[in-house]
Amino acid sequence: MSTTENVHQHEINKFGALAERWWDPAGEFKTLHAVNPLRLQFIRAHVPLADKKIVDVGCGGGILSEALSASGAEVLGIDLSEELLSVADLHGLESDVRVSYQKISAETLAEQQAGAFDAVTCMEMLEHVPNPISVVRACSKLVKPGGIVFFSTLNRNPKAYLLAIVGAEYLLNMIPKGTHEYSTFIRPSELTRWAREADLELLGMEGISYNPLTRQFSIGSDLSVNYLAAFRRSAE
Ligand code: SAH
Repeated sequence: MSTTENVHQHEINKFGALAERWWDPAGEFKTLHAVNPLRLQFIRAHVPLADKKIVDVGCGGGILSEALSASGAEVLGIDLSEELLSVADLHGLESDVRVSYQKISAETLAEQQAGAFDAVTCMEMLEHVPNPISVVRACSKLVKPGGIVFFSTLNRNPKAYLLAIVGAEYLLNMIPKGTHEYSTFIRPSELTRWAREADLELLGMEGISYNPLTRQFSIGSDLSVNYLAAFRRSAE
């Protein structure tokens, strides 16, 4: 890997170290499993998935990639963790869901396959890279004109700090301690501005909230902690 790549190696190592636990619905990544149907619902509301060509950027062990493929899309999952890509490959064989996986950065793939995809998904990844703007730009470049780009990340405000770090990591043990760093969280206004500068027009945003009493996640208009965003690449 070249040293100029937009990556924090410690982030890749941190996720890779837990690779074998990725598909345990009660394990360290149970939150990703729990929110997956909600994000799939959000994606489908913007793109009919059948036969669409989609790249899942920062795919990890393939939770969303497999769901997209099972919904009829032709999916390429990319990540920089070899361990996670192996787990994703193996899981695909077991579940008989076809996804291609490749170890490559969004920026490099965008150089090689500009405009090759109908949609891009990039979930819970922007807050783990040194330069999220560069990833937003690469995702825009990967879709064809009129293509749709999806992001999800964590908002940056005191409530998000309290719920996503203190609550989720320390009080409720929902995700591993040290998963997130507050300063890397991204406000919806910032994401929208970066996207606009990359020729992406905002289509919609929805928040994902957790109710500790019912232990259920739900999707709605509260963007204050975790949110999903859909953008369309301008069509010239
Ligand atoms: N998108 C998946 C996984 C989120 S966890 C999901 O939501 O289910 C964050 C993922 O981003 C990890 O798999 C990690 O390896 C990956 N990642 C971190 N930095 C990256 C980079 N620079 N390029 C590609 N993937 C990266």
